[in-house]
Amino acid sequence: MSKALVLTELKAGKAKKSSLEVIHALESQGVEVHALVVADKVDASVAAEVGAQGAKKLLTATHESFAYYQSEAYAATIGDAFKAGGYTILAGSASSLVKDLFPRLAARLDAGLAVDVTALEVKGAEIKVRRPMLAGKYFAWLKFKAAPALISVRPNVLGVGAGGGAAAAVEAVAVKADSRVKTSAVQGGAGGKVDLGEAERIVSGGRAMKNAENFKVLQELADVIGAAVGASRAAVDSGFAPHTMQVGQTGKTVNPNLYIACGISGAIQHLAGMKTSKVIVAINTDPEAPIFQRADYGAVGDLFQVVPALTAEFKKLLAQG
Ligand SMILES: Cc1cc2nc3c(=O)[nH]c(=O)nc-3n(C[C@H](O)[C@H](O)[C@H](O)COP(=O)(O)OP(=O)(O)OC[C@H]3O[C@@H](n4cnc5c(N)ncnc54)[C@H](O)[C@@H]3O)c2cc1C
Repeated sequence: MSKALVLTELKAGKAKKSSLEVIHALESQGVEVHALVVADKVDASVAAEVGAQGAKKLLTATHESFAYYQSEAYAATIGDAFKAGGYTILAGSASSLVKDLFPRLAARLDAGLAVDVTALEVKGAEIKVRRPMLAGKYFAWLKFKAAPALISVRPNVLGVGAGGGAAAAVEAVAVKADSRVKTSAVQGGAGGKVDLGEAERIVSGGRAMKNAENFKVLQELADVIGAAVGASRAAVDSGFAPHTMQVGQTGKTVNPNLYIACGISGAIQHLAGMKTSKVIVAINTDPEAPIFQRADYGAVGDLFQVVPALTAEFKKLLAQG
């Protein structure tokens, strides 16, 4: 039987939904799952969160320097915990941290690595995963020849379970905090209130936004519906939004329930990052814009009129309860 260690990331002290999705996905395949949190401190509530999704144990690796991501020390600590526990799978959500960390761990553990996985099947010792290729044009099924298997899972695809599992048993593991380079501070990026990669709703703006100031129009709508704000590369390259907000082939891959594209033409490189969104809404003055071919709903019109109207309408509806 496979045994998995799931790197569980925290946000404001709580387990991220994208990490919980990985726990649930593996547990529902009959895999024994343990969660591992590497942080400066871990609240007791995390054991309940990971346990509810089926993790039997919560391993904690705590050190004051782990208030920030330390690539070398994280790799050493996680690698040791993985080997000591006799795991066959190391998994996490396909976050920026995991994108940096897992190749390092794959080398350290001499393991195969499959990234940005959108489906997985575990039968006994056999592990198969599905991942998009060529910006989502094709999907490939990959089979690991041998354990250990390293897997990162695309957020918002596999979903969390109904919960109900008992709180995981907490166990502290040895920490290797030494590293040749240490992150001692992180200056706040211009990230929005809702994490783009994890967001269930996204309002994105393109070149048509004209300037950074105009993104306020999108932020107002986002605030009302609890969405994150994204941008096309044209908007980022024009300096209207930071690269952290870019959606697409050279930006973030997102998979929200609702994606509202405002003044975005729908170039293939943008679609690569958002076309798996469950519902796509396009607002564009050009009825021939390619985004309409992908959209479930479309409004041909000026975003500076349509978006405030939508915001007002959502506000009204939400006020009615
Ligand atoms: C290697 C490579 C990687 C790339 N990676 C990415 C990526 O990660 N993400 C990405 O987004 N792009 C990426 N691109 C760029 C991509 O090809 C497009 O150039 C880009 O997506 C266009 O952005 P846009 O739709 O905002 O701008 P445009 O294509 O200029 O479209 C603007 C749209 O706004 C509409 N519009 C204008 N005024 C209004 C208004 N008032 N109201 C409503 N609609 C209006 C127009 O009709 C038009 O459809 C990449 C390109 C390459 C070559």
